Amino acid sequence: MIKEGNIGVTTDNIFPVIKKFLYSDQEIFLREIVSNAVDATQKLKTLAGRGDYKGELGDLAVRVSIDKKARTLTVSDRGIGMTAEEIDKYINQIAFSGAEEFLEKYKNDANAIIGHFGLGFYSSFMVSSRVDIVSRSWQEGAQAVKWSCDGSPAFTIEECDKADRGTDIVLHIDDEYKDFLKEEKISSLLEKYCKFLPVPVVFGKKKEWKDGKQVTTDEDNQINDTQPAWTRKPSELNEEDYLKFYKQLYPFSEDPLFHIHLNVDYPFNLTGILYFPKIKNSIEIQKNKIQLYCNQVFVTDSVEGIVPNFLTLLHGVIDSPDIPLNVSRSYLQNDVNVKKISNHITKKVGESLLKIFNSDRKQFEEKWDDLKIFIEYGILTEEKFWNQAEKFVLVKNTDGKYFTLEEYKTLVSASQTDKDGQMVCLYASDREKQYSYAESARSKGYDVLLMNGELDVPFMQHLESKLEKTRFVRVDSDVVDNLIPKADKAAVSLSEDDQNKLKDLFKNSLPAMDKVNFDIRLDSLGKDSVPVMLTQNEFMRRMKDMSALQAGMSFYGEMPDSYAVVVNTDSPLVQEALSAPEEESTKQKLSQMVDLALLGSGMLKGEALDKFIRRSFEMI
Ligand code: ADP
Repeated sequence: MIKEGNIGVTTDNIFPVIKKFLYSDQEIFLREIVSNAVDATQKLKTLAGRGDYKGELGDLAVRVSIDKKARTLTVSDRGIGMTAEEIDKYINQIAFSGAEEFLEKYKNDANAIIGHFGLGFYSSFMVSSRVDIVSRSWQEGAQAVKWSCDGSPAFTIEECDKADRGTDIVLHIDDEYKDFLKEEKISSLLEKYCKFLPVPVVFGKKKEWKDGKQVTTDEDNQINDTQPAWTRKPSELNEEDYLKFYKQLYPFSEDPLFHIHLNVDYPFNLTGILYFPKIKNSIEIQKNKIQLYCNQVFVTDSVEGIVPNFLTLLHGVIDSPDIPLNVSRSYLQNDVNVKKISNHITKKVGESLLKIFNSDRKQFEEKWDDLKIFIEYGILTEEKFWNQAEKFVLVKNTDGKYFTLEEYKTLVSASQTDKDGQMVCLYASDREKQYSYAESARSKGYDVLLMNGELDVPFMQHLESKLEKTRFVRVDSDVVDNLIPKADKAAVSLSEDDQNKLKDLFKNSLPAMDKVNFDIRLDSLGKDSVPVMLTQNEFMRRMKDMSALQAGMSFYGEMPDSYAVVVNTDSPLVQEALSAPEEESTKQKLSQMVDLALLGSGMLKGEALDKFIRRSFEMI
């Protein structure tokens, strides 16, 4: 025996503490042990590269194996190995002052504790009743040693036989954690944490299907891709490579819209590939996430705080040794460097989108409908992103044509500026339901935008606050002549008495509806315009739309829908009704006019619709 002793921690026994507090995240032990093996291998490669190590490198794969009988999980490498002195220095002397206080503070964050104190190796005690290190240093004539520790601070080191250079970490898996002796379990953990490590990691042999049965082949089962796309130069990659990598990350997802290759070396190191995914439903948003790596070791897929909120919807990989992964999340969000990284990623994404827009507008337009939700979300949540996005954000009209904001202004400002000098952008939120309103606006020479996206309502609010003298008005929020008031209009020429009479006539012809208020409004719209139409005030409607998106605005949401029934006092049909209000045929015509107005805005349903159909047949 070379040495016996106690591990240099100031607390009596850190292992129970490790077990207790790191409970939720035990599985990361495998990541820690395998990445130590990878580090040791890379260090050897560096030594060889510098000429310090002159021997054969040979097979450098890190091998993970399970021995069910011995109940051990072993990670072996052929890296630099350790001498007895090195084990003493790197493994035994762990500085751990104030451990308990620290653990208490970060008890929900295993990553924080483990990385912070260089406790990677010790995380193996979360699942092991004993851990052995069998190691032989790369140096000529080095004596192999075996370190062993059963989870108490007591350890032993003794000389042993080991033919090969490198280290075996042997975990004697605790009964309680037998799961970690299952092949499928280890397989899935390797897949999660080690998929892109830079040194081959082998777990058993490859399996094949033969005659309906799974058989083991002679070929090593390498579980990782040592050179994932993000570590390569963009100039070496083509579209297909990016797509292939996407499928590696998310095998079951539809092809993404675009990718952005991040490659930053100043003022911090960061590489990665972000993809704009095609989102079909909200379940997918939850499922696939950006994965955060640190030198190709998977760390987490919760990147909140590291990338701006709107980019958390993207897919892909970010790899940075400079993100302080070892501190708690709340700290992350206030960290100046993290803020810088987050801003930088936003800027890069903005630049890339502008580049795609400028170089391939056709493609950009083709993908816009899917892309739009990300861009609008970014605009709404990141002030800085707006400065970039205003150049490439698009609006689409009901003909399916796309415009930048600047182009749209050029298109409509002459014809759609109201008497107060405000440019009025007309829009429909539902092409079918608001068809007739949109058509009458278009027949007047106006353009109508289609704003049917989830975030279009707040997006329009945003544009109104950003663009000078611009407002958005939905096509059914008023009669077409009032949508863009040009000059003071002719007043209604009826006596007050007649006006009241007319209002009553129409009020009495309205079918009863739940949670809907009607307000009869008289307007002089010219002989040729429709006699009656339904409109909904832009402000109230928008408040209701917004309330559906935002908490704290439910007040608007609970209010009944209010519609204006606009009666055109110039219409011959309306004048006729006023002159013979008592006649049966007038009553029928009034009901018919009102129902047609309701029908035009998709509100005639159920019994009212049935009555309308019967009445129409009678009238024929
Ligand atoms: P960290 O990796 O953060 O330094 P660890 O507790 O995981 O902390 O490891 C402590 C040290 O032990 C490492 O820095 C390394 O010097 C040494 N070590 C661990 N595993 C190996 C290995 N497989 N081969 C060689 N050295 C190792």
